[in-house]
Amino acid sequence: MLGQLRRIVQDVAQEPVLQNALAGLVSRVKQALETECCSVYLANYEQQHFMLMATDGLNPDAAGKIAIGFSEGLIGWVGQREEPINLAKAHLHPRFKVTPEVSEDRFSAFLGCPIIHHRKVLGVLTIQQAEDRVFNEDEESFLVTLAAQLASVLANAEMRQAASESTKNQMQNGQLRGLPGAPGIAIGDAYILEPANDFNAISLKRSDEPDKELAHFYRAVKITKAEFNRLAERMSGHLPPDALAIFDVYHQLLDAASLGSEIEQQIAEGWCAKSALKRVVEKFARQFDDMDDAYLRERGTDIRDLGQRVLNNLLDTEQRKIKLPQKVVLVADNVTATMLAEVPREQLVAIVSLKGSVNSHAAIMARALGIPAVMGVNELPLLHWQSQRLIVDGYHGHILLSPAEAICQEYQQLISEDAALMATYLQEIALPSQSACGKAFSLMVNSGLAIEFETAPPQYTDGVGLYRTEFPFIMRSRFPTEQEQIELYRKVLETYAPCPVIMRTLDVGGDKALPYFSIVEENPFLGWRGIRLTLDHPEIFLVQIRAMLKANLALDNLHILLPMISDLAEVDEALRLIRQACFEVSDELAIDMPKPRIGVMIEVPSIMYQLPELARKVDFCSVGTNDLTQYLLAVDRNNPRVAGLYDAMHPAVLRALYQMVQQAQALQFTISVCGELAGEPAGVLLLAAMGYSSFSMNSSNLAKIKWLLRRVEMSELALLLPEVLACPSAKHVRLHIHRFLEQKHLLSQLRA
Ligand code: PEP
Ligand code: MG
Repeated sequence: MLGQLRRIVQDVAQEPVLQNALAGLVSRVKQALETECCSVYLANYEQQHFMLMATDGLNPDAAGKIAIGFSEGLIGWVGQREEPINLAKAHLHPRFKVTPEVSEDRFSAFLGCPIIHHRKVLGVLTIQQAEDRVFNEDEESFLVTLAAQLASVLANAEMRQAASESTKNQMQNGQLRGLPGAPGIAIGDAYILEPANDFNAISLKRSDEPDKELAHFYRAVKITKAEFNRLAERMSGHLPPDALAIFDVYHQLLDAASLGSEIEQQIAEGWCAKSALKRVVEKFARQFDDMDDAYLRERGTDIRDLGQRVLNNLLDTEQRKIKLPQKVVLVADNVTATMLAEVPREQLVAIVSLKGSVNSHAAIMARALGIPAVMGVNELPLLHWQSQRLIVDGYHGHILLSPAEAICQEYQQLISEDAALMATYLQEIALPSQSACGKAFSLMVNSGLAIEFETAPPQYTDGVGLYRTEFPFIMRSRFPTEQEQIELYRKVLETYAPCPVIMRTLDVGGDKALPYFSIVEENPFLGWRGIRLTLDHPEIFLVQIRAMLKANLALDNLHILLPMISDLAEVDEALRLIRQACFEVSDELAIDMPKPRIGVMIEVPSIMYQLPELARKVDFCSVGTNDLTQYLLAVDRNNPRVAGLYDAMHPAVLRALYQMVQQAQALQFTISVCGELAGEPAGVLLLAAMGYSSFSMNSSNLAKIKWLLRRVEMSELALLLPEVLACPSAKHVRLHIHRFLEQKHLLSQLRA
């Protein structure tokens, strides 16, 4: 049953033309359930009706012509109730509506199931039979499961259809909705730097140039084989010979006698190289998936892996042919640091990430660069974005596709207003960071992207409150050497000396992957991340600490920060390794190496409750509100589906932050905030009201935050705090601060 379901869904997903996909779907379901009729209706919200799209059993001429109002008949009722309706004698039901054109008089039994995607009814799937009987539980659960699986496939297929069929005119002013990732507005041309490396996002296309496609495919195979040779060479000595044999198998699979010839055949039949590859890989992988033997089933994964590599190389060569537009809106399945580095900073105007959410690292990078970003826009497959003119509205998370000139002009006006606001903030960048009543704050920057340096003039900051060392690791194709790290860290320490630079030890895992150190986990944010990984690999940790220490020589502004600490034993072990590194460097250079100040990130709730012990072990702590929010609320910061639940203004998070600062003050333990909340106007006001006075933020926010703090009195914030802490939800909290800013006539100048 499961295999049948999977195959039906995959077939629908693979078919490029929606109408064909639906026609195939109804016959397959009818056959699988051995029933007499299956039909599918899709919702049209503008017209408020369900359209019969395909049927196997009703009058086939009615498909595409018969519309049933949202409140009409049994179909409308299934949509309204948002649950399956299973009837033995449908025609006797009060909601039954006679529609002569569909010729359904001979059917009695009816089972209708809504197709729901993200709480929205997309359509209704029905089966019918002449016999008077209620469909049994197995049949009902089959249809419910199928409808649930179909929902996202259909949502995708509809968008795909809309994108490919619409003329440019029809697409004008078409709007896509995502999540606001980084504020700001930009107009530019979409550029897919790394097209989806996932087969599902590849839409099937034909080509009139089989010879060209074949040459394209051969080239990708050649590069892939060379990659395997390199991998095999690198792994020999590390892997047993039987494991290494996988590379030979891959080579053979790519040969003409195996998958290769099938792909050539598909290209000869008129498919483009990518589509041919997708069709063949999916076909073979599925055959393995359905095998009973667990070992053979695993081979399906091998075939997909192999296909993935060839696909990447196919896309790579395609990519090289596309010219970089002058104003680049980087669109990617999942924007990474490496991709950002590939587009010249002066050409990059915005980011659109199909995956991810507001506090994914891709969004944080966009905020660091001061460019707008929209996240989680998964309605439109990647390849349909290429070369489209886009307006990216990072404030609201909207994207306008191929906008009309008049609309562009309106948005251009908003861009100019933003620039004017920034100029206002910058007028005060050199003034002291203090409230209107004179309370001093330390405003530091979060850093880690080399290209980000320009956006924060170091002389106007109080140092680096968080240097994310993982980015230099992610940008390379291997672990950086000690010498490479020394040079990199030295540059940062020198740039900000004598102000402190808080360097965080490697924090990979979660949504930050190293291309050369794969971590595959079911639950990566709760898995091998940050300090957990580096303590398991002391050779990586020690090299990094040694490099930091050496870079710090004669500057002495290095602070070291430990990420993802959830247990005091991790602190002890890290301190032991840091002592060892100090000793080694002192010995090697024959100098007396001073021990830098050491701190711990507070981002896992457990450690919040161990501040007294922590205060005895380390010199300072820094609150990472991005992860603290995700772990306190149990909401994946990277998952757009639950983005509505992720909010650092949640009353529970605010109470935790308040309790922590009070406790730290009582312990005389230095505490600061380096999560994104510190760079948000509303967030920094609340934190200041609670008693925090040291903030680290993306450099593009620093001028704005300084400008804001200079306009508030601590006495006003003291009144605001209890009111906010009593709010029942994040929404109320935001409204409350909104009102406060409005009363102070600051709102319009903040776009908060
Ligand atoms: C945090 O979790 O708040 C933080 C600053 O670290 P990162 O965003 O890099 O996980
Ligand atoms: Mg973190």
